[in-house]
Amino acid sequence: MPRRHRLQTEEPAPPPRPPRAEAPLWALVPGADVRRVAGEKPYRCPGCEHEIRPGTWHLVVVPHDDVEARRHWHEGCWRIELNRTRGRPDRAT
Ligand SMILES: [Zn+2]
Repeated sequence: MPRRHRLQTEEPAPPPRPPRAEAPLWALVPGADVRRVAGEKPYRCPGCEHEIRPGTWHLVVVPHDDVEARRHWHEGCWRIELNRTRGRPDRAT
């Protein structure tokens, strides 16, 4: 019997996930649609300049007025970005 990766019988396979889900409340921003997605291709995160691997859950931020300007972010990078922009009021609203 060939040795293969041990089947982890104690952990059932994860159920199939929906292709997109609601983003956490902290991630939402006015003027854009924020979703949690797991894509089938890699994306470049503008926060850290690293790749978001296919199948990795991350956030996609889609501006309402320009859906072509959507960006894919690591969740942690988006959190940092929000903290950065909120701490720097460059828009007086
Ligand atoms: Zn990142």
